[in-house]
Amino acid sequence: MTLPRDPGTYEGTSQLDGGGRLVGKTAVVTGGARGIGAAIASRFEHEGATTYRIDVAGGSDERSLQSDVTDEASVEDAMEKILVESGRLDICVANAGISPTITHVTDLDADMWRRVINVNLTGVFLTLRAAARRIVRAGNGGRLIATGSVGTFAGMAGGAAYSSAKFGLRGLIQSMSLELAPSVTVNMVAPGDTDSMMNTEVREFIAERRGVTGDEIRAGMEARIPVGRLADPAEIAGAFAWLASDEAAYVTGSVLLIDGGWLLAR
Ligand code: NDP
Repeated sequence: MTLPRDPGTYEGTSQLDGGGRLVGKTAVVTGGARGIGAAIASRFEHEGATTYRIDVAGGSDERSLQSDVTDEASVEDAMEKILVESGRLDICVANAGISPTITHVTDLDADMWRRVINVNLTGVFLTLRAAARRIVRAGNGGRLIATGSVGTFAGMAGGAAYSSAKFGLRGLIQSMSLELAPSVTVNMVAPGDTDSMMNTEVREFIAERRGVTGDEIRAGMEARIPVGRLADPAEIAGAFAWLASDEAAYVTGSVLLIDGGWLLAR
């Protein structure tokens, strides 16, 4: 993929090269039905990988599986099904996540805290563990990648549970990268504000609280990003494709921040 000439614009996937970097590989992406996960799955398919998607709702596509990442047995079953059907498993992206509330800690109820930690931290652990068990057993090496966030690096008012889970993922991927070296790499991509359903819902949630429109919240978000706009999910997906490819064989235990400069400017 070539860079857009003006960083303030993004011309979409028409800029993608011929792909083919993941030919012969089998990949699985949780939360692959929409948003960032859907973009990652499409990008992996473009690169030639046989790609499965796991979501709570499932999907009509033959490679879409229904599974809740917080349900240990269901995650193990889904991974086993992929392995049996495809004959191999090389790449696992633990991307499913939720951001259901923007609430200060003093008003945050424990059930909401547990729900966010359960999906965004425990769900990633269950997903990467299920994939790692099968990848290690096969002995052909592999790639494990989690989706973090700018909340991996910085606390956010109203986002304590979300940010705590995303901070926790650093410990998980760093520990796993040491345990699984040298044949399996374990990394994380940390996106900033990205134009997806989750981001739209967060904007609407904040807008309702403040009595303003979602568009006004979006304009405020964009004003805080040096690149001047939200990311397109396809721009985030490119980093996953690189980490999954042979080009990134020497990268492990890393977190790749893709936030348009937001953290630096904060
Ligand atoms: P979306 O809400 O658009 O998509 C999330 C996907 O995850 C959905 O397909 C959903 O499936 C799935 N999902 C949610 N809970 C579960 C679960 N328990 N088990 C299986 N699948 C589940 O979110 P995004 O694409 O924006 O977010 C993807 C990841 O990127 C998340 O980890 C998020 O934290 C992270 N991120 C997003 C940012 C943003 O601004 N958008 C910024 C930084 C990080 P279903 O619809 O079936 O429930």
